[in-house]
Amino acid sequence: MDQAKLAAALAAASSARRPAEGVHLLQDVPGGPDAVAAVDGGNALAIRCPSCRSLVLRPGAAVKSLEHTALALPSISRADGGAATPAPFVWSVADMMRFENIGFSKPLPGDSLGGDAGLQIERYLACADCDLGPLGCSGHLAAGGGAAKTLLIFGDRVAYEAART
Ligand SMILES: [Zn+2]
Repeated sequence: MDQAKLAAALAAASSARRPAEGVHLLQDVPGGPDAVAAVDGGNALAIRCPSCRSLVLRPGAAVKSLEHTALALPSISRADGGAATPAPFVWSVADMMRFENIGFSKPLPGDSLGGDAGLQIERYLACADCDLGPLGCSGHLAAGGGAAKTLLIFGDRVAYEAART
């Protein structure tokens, strides 16, 4: 799903509670999509649910990464049949305590959520308030990752709160 379709889907999903002034989808961020990351790779802007605007991550809580961007997460919109979409980048979150609000799916025993060559997906991440998602996923590295959990938010599935001037 391209950004235009995502924007339309999100607008439809949030018709009752439109994003506030200063909250933007990735392609609408003032200064362009690169403005979401600081020079150290951290998120420069607060990350919010694109539908209900619930705060997901405060600035600096995650690090931009180009790994695992092709993970096959279901579409955020049901309009296109749930086709998986790759992300331009992901936000890697070091541990769950970094999140302000996030919800985890509860897969049924035996469910396979997929993965890529490096990561086995164990949970989908969704908005804790309105259940919009998947906004990202969690899982464990398939090889050499030990017990460390990987938490990813897909860069084009969340909204960004522009800094107030
Ligand atoms: Zn929400």
